[in-house]
Parts: sequence; C-alpha cells; structure tokens
Amino acid sequence: MLRSQGQTTVRFWIALLTGKSAALLCRLFRHSGTSLPGVVALKVYPQLLSVLAADYERIVAVTGTNGKTTTANLLAHLLRSSGSSTVNNHEGANMISGVVTALIKDWTMLGERRSQIAVLEVDEGSVGKVFPSVKPDLLVVTNYFRDQLDRYSDLDHNINLLRRILDELPQTLLLLNADDPLVVTAGCDHSVASYYGVASEQKDQTGDCEIREGSLCPDCGAFLAYNYYNYGQLGAYYCPNCTFRRPVPDFLASEIQDDDYLEFILHVCQRKGRNENCSTADTVRLRAQMRGFYNVYNILAAAAAATTLGVSQQTIASSLMEYAPAAGRMEKFIYKGRPCTLNLIKNPTGLNEVLKTLLRGKGEKALVIAINDLAGDGRDVSWLWDAGFEMLDNPSIKMIVCSGRRAGDVGVRLKYAGVPPNKIIIEPECKPSIEGLGEQDAGEYHILASYTSVFNYSKLLRKMGKAVE
Ligand SMILES: [Zn+2]
Repeated sequence: MLRSQGQTTVRFWIALLTGKSAALLCRLFRHSGTSLPGVVALKVYPQLLSVLAADYERIVAVTGTNGKTTTANLLAHLLRSSGSSTVNNHEGANMISGVVTALIKDWTMLGERRSQIAVLEVDEGSVGKVFPSVKPDLLVVTNYFRDQLDRYSDLDHNINLLRRILDELPQTLLLLNADDPLVVTAGCDHSVASYYGVASEQKDQTGDCEIREGSLCPDCGAFLAYNYYNYGQLGAYYCPNCTFRRPVPDFLASEIQDDDYLEFILHVCQRKGRNENCSTADTVRLRAQMRGFYNVYNILAAAAAATTLGVSQQTIASSLMEYAPAAGRMEKFIYKGRPCTLNLIKNPTGLNEVLKTLLRGKGEKALVIAINDLAGDGRDVSWLWDAGFEMLDNPSIKMIVCSGRRAGDVGVRLKYAGVPPNKIIIEPECKPSIEGLGEQDAGEYHILASYTSVFNYSKLLRKMGKAVE
C-alpha cells in the first residue's frame, strides 16, 4: 500500500485509474500497450513515477546500449525463482512511458502493488527522465556502443548524462562492466561500485570488422592499450600514460564454452581491498540455453546482480537453465521442419556478434535480414556500412533474403560485402520474405530483424511454423 498516503493526491488516483483503463483498452483492442498507458497517466500526473517507484522494497535498473533486455529479463527470472515477486518492463519498452506502464500494470485499482521488487530496463538516452524520480538500489551498466545515430548523435552525450545523474544517486550501488572503458569512465567517480568482467582466455577471433569505440583514456586523453579484446572495445585495457586501467572484476566469467549451451565458471571474488586480486573466490558453473559470446556478458551481469541482491548461487545455477529468451533475442522456432532463429539487430557491434555466432553453426544457412527505418529502428540506416557483412561472403551461406522498408539498402550493402548477387533476393514484405526462406534447401534458417519488425516476425513464425519452448 502506498507509503505516502497523506500526500497522495487526487491526481495520483486519476492518473493510476486512467493508466489502468488505457491498459485494459489496449488489451481489448489487441494493441501491444507497452507504452500508451504510461503516456496518458504521465499527462495527468507527471510525478506518478516517483510515487509508484518509492513504494517498492527494492528497485534494480539496467542501462547501456546492448544486452539490457536480456540482462533485465534474466535478472527478473532469477529473482522470481528465489521467491521474490518481481515486476519488469519485459517487452523492452524502456523509455519513461514504458517504465511507468509496467509499474501501472503491477498496481491494483485499490492502489496496491503486487510485487516486492521492480527490475527496470532504462534506455541509455532516457536516464535523465527516469532518474532520479526512480532511485535504484542497484544500477547495472552493460556497455556503450554507437546506436541509432539520429536519435542519440553522440556517444559521449549518453556517457556524460549518466555521469551527471549518478551525482544525484549517491546511495545507488553500481554494477559496472569492467571490460568496457566507456562504462568505467561513466561510473568510476561513484563511491559504491562493483565490477563484472570476462577472463582473458576468450580471444577475439575476427579483427577486421570490429568497431572499437572510445579508446582514449578518460583521465589523460592518451590512447588506451589492450592486453586482449573480447569484442568491440571490451577487453583488458590500460593507459600507458597514467593509472587508468580495467578494474579487477568482483564477478568474473572464465572457461567459456559456446556449443549447444552457453557455459562458464562464475567466480565471486572476496578481496581485501580494491585493485587487490581475489584472495578467495566462490565458484559455480553456470549453464544457459543461449548461444553467443555476447550473452556471457548478459548472463554474468544478471548473475552478479542477483548475487548482490542475496540470491544463492544454487538458485542462480538451477533457474538459469529454465530461462527462455524474449521475443527476438535468439528466439527459436521450427519452420518447414528446420530450426529457425530470430534475432533483433540494432547496431553494428550487436549485428557482428549475431553473425559470428550463426556462422559457427556447421550446416548450410539461409537468412532473412529485415531493416526498417521507422522511429523505433532509427531513421538513419548508415550503420549498415559499419557492420561486418563481409563475414557473409561464406560458402555455408546459401541465400539471403533482404527485407523491410530498406531491403534495397541491405542488398546493396551485401553486394559491396562480396556476397554473390545470385545469393541475394529482395523481398520488402514480411510474410513473403519468410516464404522465400522456406523455399531454400538449407540446414537452418536465421532471421535478423530491426526493432519494428521483430515482433511481426515472431508473431508470423508462431503461425507459419511453431515456437520451440
Ligand atoms: Zn591516462
């Protein structure tokens, strides 16, 4: 029940009831309704978020460029498995309206919340609107990559934005990706931070098509040097000119195996002082029904956050295997008797990781690459030229169907990447592109879709094929 009962205003109640009615109408009219209830409720009462958020026992927020949805959903799953009722904006609507919508749906008409904990995925450009209305107990920062150029023109802007916001959140414990110098730059001035990172034996396999952002030292401006890269600019870096370097991770992943399952050893370090090595470490083997090296970071971040919140390692290990990824995050289907994987793509670094993972499969593959240029995708599709499509000039790729509003741009990009023209089909419409895929006699199908088409593909694949639960 609302703690600040005395201060609750008529506007709060009108906003809550308006938001709940909007959510009901969205359901009746089969509108996705992940943001609209929040939009209308905030119009009635702009302070609604701070009142709703203040009532939760604990709030965890996840921000950064890639991996937010997977990390937040996985963390919510781990918390629920440990017996804590947890609400989260699980469909990835991560601007202020999406955050408010998720909380409104968690509240009853009587003004009571159903969950103890809220896990909120927050768009890296929206941190200024969500915080400090929401004062998270724990904030996870995943990574910073260039994303949707026209929406947030400058990577530095988002990093500085977070830095400024953190000054207003002195009580918040940070959980930072130690391997990303940009994340460490954003959070290193904060008094309470712990770090997660991936051990050195995982070498970056491909060098040519990698995008390495911001390799300058935040303290002195010198170029950072690296002992190794994991992917993008993530790795073990140090400044040759001053003391800035990758912090020693409190949560470390090692011995990674990426075959049918993703498996690694999680070390939870106990150490005497910061920058000391782990004097002792608890270890646990984690295994998840996911693929792709980039998902090691997501699982590691979720496991580290869950550990910080008191979930036992046993619960983490056993409930990880039951986790099913969200729409378009390696969602699995059977279509025409063949395995078909659906992945969301939104920036060059993410796309490169998806391509590397799918190319490691042994069989022949047919792909759909669907790119839209609506507001949710980012209007500017020039990032396609920064992604490593050259990898697709590979004998195991049988056919690529280019789809979406920018199907033609994808086709041109593939041609310049060296993919033979007889392996490229242009089919802008969603359903015919899936049918085009079904005509290919390949061992496996992959669909890579930008934000506004990924739900459509997910829905159609459930109808035309079947989902693998
Ligand atoms: Zn330096």
